[in-house]
Amino acid sequence: MAIPKILIVDDRPENLLALEGLLEPFNVELIKANSGEEALAHTLDHDFALILLDVQMPGMDGYEVAELMRGNKKNKHIPIIFVTAASKAPSHIFRGYESGAVDYLLKPLIPVMFQSKVGVFIELYEQKEALREKTQEFDRKLVELEELQQQLEETNEQLLLLSTTDGLTGLFNRRRFDEVLNEEWKRGIRSQQPLSFIILDIDHFKAYNDTYGHQAGDDCLREVARTLASVPLREMDKIARIGGEEFAIILPETDREGVMLAAERIRESIDELNIPHSSSLSHQHLTISVGVSTVVPDLAFSSRKLLEAADDALYEAKRRGRNCCCSTEVINQAVNL
Ligand SMILES: [Mg+2]
Repeated sequence: MAIPKILIVDDRPENLLALEGLLEPFNVELIKANSGEEALAHTLDHDFALILLDVQMPGMDGYEVAELMRGNKKNKHIPIIFVTAASKAPSHIFRGYESGAVDYLLKPLIPVMFQSKVGVFIELYEQKEALREKTQEFDRKLVELEELQQQLEETNEQLLLLSTTDGLTGLFNRRRFDEVLNEEWKRGIRSQQPLSFIILDIDHFKAYNDTYGHQAGDDCLREVARTLASVPLREMDKIARIGGEEFAIILPETDREGVMLAAERIRESIDELNIPHSSSLSHQHLTISVGVSTVVPDLAFSSRKLLEAADDALYEAKRRGRNCCCSTEVINQAVNL
């Protein structure tokens, strides 16, 4: 903490010297002024713990100086003690208080009394400064805390994103897919609206990897993912990569006809990419097989049923020569291809 500063103002050098002597025991920095004007100038440059102000001075007297100081926001709260040899008449003393003095001492000063008063003001100033420093430190800590909190939130968001997305394609991963399916299954039980599901598999993908290498295989998976994401579906339809070359789409409130339209559009869009696939046993370019299932969710069975039914349909699509869509509908737990 900085050493407290005290401003002593008196037009007579011997009075300033006397005050200086009385203030000797204190660890303070003294600033001296011979006139009111000089005193006011000092208040612009320093922050004072206390001002000891002579009343009778040529030019601006102590009362005027005090009033001007009080009118200034920065100096408003600096305690002023008038030191005067003037009359002890109450009217003088009142004028001193009116102009903002906190005390009024008469010359000759009684050292013990004077020093005890000054000591109180220095202590008050030091307490105030300590409090100000603590407040500043607290504000700094608060800013730090807010920054940390912000970082934590960002990290959490990234973690959440990492834990729910597939690193290669940016689509939902298997974990998130299971969560969404579970939510939609429950919603379907309540709404009794049909829930549809698409599972699609890149045809002869192992052969593609063997022919073009794994880097090209990854590029191909990304291209398929991008295409799937660009097929105009509804906001509520969720796409995920659920296995190596397997993708799935959950379509709430969609019946068998609706999901078949979407599935066919997706199959076509991959077909139209015309990605060369020389080792494909069925076509000369990259294709997908699509299995579709539709069910009205029921408490009597689980969402597994929907996945199994789509798997059956996918198997059927593979059996029919690939690059096509097959659908199933689950009615009373029986899967109808
Ligand atoms: Mg004087």
